[in-house]
Amino acid sequence: MHPDCLQAPLRLDFDDDALIANWTTLDRLSGAARAGAAIKANGYGTGAAHVAPLLLRAGCRDFFVAHWGELADVLPALEPGMVSVLHGPLFESDVAYARHSGVKPVINSLEQARRWIASGGGRCDLMVDTGMNRLGVAMEQLGNEVLQGLDVDLLISHLVAAEEDTPLNERQRQRWREACQIVAHQRASLANSAGIALGEAYHGQVTRPGIALYGGVPRAEMAPVIRPVVRPQAALLQVRDIAAGETVGYNATFTASTAMRVGTVALGYADGYLRCWSGKGVLRSPGGCALPVLGRVSMDLTIVDLSAAPDLLEGDWLSVDYALEEAARTTGLSQYELLTLLGRRFRR
Ligand SMILES: *Cc1c(COP(=O)(O)O)cnc(C)c1O
Repeated sequence: MHPDCLQAPLRLDFDDDALIANWTTLDRLSGAARAGAAIKANGYGTGAAHVAPLLLRAGCRDFFVAHWGELADVLPALEPGMVSVLHGPLFESDVAYARHSGVKPVINSLEQARRWIASGGGRCDLMVDTGMNRLGVAMEQLGNEVLQGLDVDLLISHLVAAEEDTPLNERQRQRWREACQIVAHQRASLANSAGIALGEAYHGQVTRPGIALYGGVPRAEMAPVIRPVVRPQAALLQVRDIAAGETVGYNATFTASTAMRVGTVALGYADGYLRCWSGKGVLRSPGGCALPVLGRVSMDLTIVDLSAAPDLLEGDWLSVDYALEEAARTTGLSQYELLTLLGRRFRR
């Protein structure tokens, strides 16, 4: 028997219907534009190979990964021409692969444009930097004749702070409109998840939600319509009774004030349950009882207080409180980090 066939003591419960509902909601909120989907970073940690065919079935036709290496997980489910690689072609091998496969490179610089054209070119997307100073061709470069040689499908820019109400949004929108006047293209795209909530003027023809597909809530007005998608589950490995005065875990940061029952769970910081959950996190019994994390989270293990559910046994499953907005407030991590941290040991 292969080790992959063994039951894992960690799994990521994934709600297929919630993912599909979130995409459908974001597509509706995008008005006349069509919602695409950012599935980079393994579908924000949730499993790109699982997510891609579900989104395709929901009606999504524009998919975004960051690295060329991320295509392997998603191309079995998607037509290559539906997928864009946000980092663009850096190496000759990227260019050759794009030409051969039909996957669209997102051209981010004049250098990338030259590299693409020199190879024979073809359909691509173009990223314009309207204020982030991260990736994309600068506004001042848009008149450069090399760009006229491109066959641009999506003319893309990316908002720096759409989750806030700031004048930056309108400034970027104007620059993106200006770029659309200068560079010939098929379809324009500006909004990420939060940008969708900024209204029609930000939508163009294609929106690019990521975090909200997976249950993240980047703007408060989205909270009522976005459904949670993932929930981490971990098995109880051991149960023990400790006496008053005993300590728990590395560096003895928790001391029992009375005799109590504690449980050790197969979840640790190597799985993305970082040490910032120490003394703060809560796991739940199958009946919903709160089981607070005691002491330090370690690499592979976390210890919880079983006082509220003393009948639990080795092998019982606990679910981890991981509602993204609240978890972000508790830990100081972003909702993006909370999702993408979830490690390889989760059975997805
Ligand atoms: C990651 C990414 C998105 C998705 O952003 P969210 O905030 O997760 O909705 C959209 N566009 C680009 C260029 C990205 O890098």
